[in-house]
Amino acid sequence: MADNPEEIKEDLRAYLEYLQSAGIEALPRREHSEDEGISPPQAASPNVQTLEMIQKELAGCKRCKLHRSRRTIVFGEGNPKATLMFIGEGPGYDEDVQGRPFVGAAGQLLTKIIESIKLRREEVYIANIVKCRPPGNRNPQPDEVKACLPFLFKQIEAIGPQIICALGTVSAQALLDTRATISSLRGKVFDFRGIRLLPTFHPAYLLRNPDGKKAVWEDMKQIRAWLNELL
Ligand code: SF4
Repeated sequence: MADNPEEIKEDLRAYLEYLQSAGIEALPRREHSEDEGISPPQAASPNVQTLEMIQKELAGCKRCKLHRSRRTIVFGEGNPKATLMFIGEGPGYDEDVQGRPFVGAAGQLLTKIIESIKLRREEVYIANIVKCRPPGNRNPQPDEVKACLPFLFKQIEAIGPQIICALGTVSAQALLDTRATISSLRGKVFDFRGIRLLPTFHPAYLLRNPDGKKAVWEDMKQIRAWLNELL
């Protein structure tokens, strides 16, 4: 490992060139930390849990106050070895009732978005930042995100996607550890633990603001191009 400033600079330059060649144009910035370094791609840990193990660990979870009003824990669903993951904010009414992510009106739009890039819903993995419905569909609060996020990170580790699409402000902010708005983040490519992460608008936002669909279509075309390179 390099230990003099020139070698460190050279290593950093080589790593940035590698990211650029992979199409990554921007890196997440930590707003509350001195540590603004680049997270290098992480090798799979020998202690990676399977999705079944993680789900079992979450059974009856009361790690945050959202357990009080939920009907079901919405774990996530899809291809357990998906190349592409979509990560939303949290379950809504329909998701809470059915125990499945993105099954309401916004979910139907997400399915169409997935199909627009010639994929089937079953081919990707869909999850949320929090797994229990926030009352009245409010945004998850920081303590709730903090309690639930480690389980999403374990899911990401188990699945091993090469691309993550963060849907909406809550998802992008939690994954990138930032307070930047989705409007300023969308369409940019970030490095999340060696995985390309592209934030875009949440389908629920698109239902209220159809003008945003053009931007999401641009993002989906970018994802399709990456998939074409990878598959
Ligand atoms: Fe547990 Fe996550 Fe539900 Fe909170 S949101 S109770 S941490 S599963």
